[in-house]
Amino acid sequence: MSNNLISGLIKLINANQLHQNLFNLSKDPLPYRKLNYTVPGAGKNTLYQADDFIQKKLESWGDIVEKEGVEVRAVNSEESPWFTAYNLYAKKLGVVHPEEIILFLSHKDSQSWVDSPGAYDNCAGTVSTMEIARVLKDYPSQRSVWFLFCNEEHAPWTSVTAAQNAKLCNDDLIAIFNLDAVGGKSQQILMPTEKRMLLCLPNRKGNALPI
Ligand SMILES: [Zn+2]
Repeated sequence: MSNNLISGLIKLINANQLHQNLFNLSKDPLPYRKLNYTVPGAGKNTLYQADDFIQKKLESWGDIVEKEGVEVRAVNSEESPWFTAYNLYAKKLGVVHPEEIILFLSHKDSQSWVDSPGAYDNCAGTVSTMEIARVLKDYPSQRSVWFLFCNEEHAPWTSVTAAQNAKLCNDDLIAIFNLDAVGGKSQQILMPTEKRMLLCLPNRKGNALPI
């Protein structure tokens, strides 16, 4: 990918759209994104409403959205009933190496056990992943690009189910970008010597790759 192409794609990022999506999903009309809270009169819980919002946006950009249900419940509550939480996938097929997959993911839920809008953790990541999907919608990528909107503030994490399924299906994930709590890390934490920001993923031979 040339520098010109990258700067052209970056220019497509729409700050207003990022702000608006963040506001809609973490303030008004949705104060939270959790399974155990329904806005009075809404008819479905706030996480399902967030799913609808994300799905509609992805579909408006030409994506087909797949939903995968996982049984979960509120964290920190032994009495919590079980709910079905959904992983949402949008998959863009690569034009040269469609079997090789680059995955962008974000957890879209807010904490189930406190009344926090979770604007930073992780609505910021959610709307960023949505914006990447929008910016890349017409870009003929060589490899397949998948977008996953999962849940990590309920138990168990539905991202774990997604990872297990990827292993079962032998999905050839060549790069994974997890956008979580975007834009709030201190410069010190972002230093290359600071190991807290490093993840290790296995490459195709099973060796750990720091990213
Ligand atoms: Zn998070």
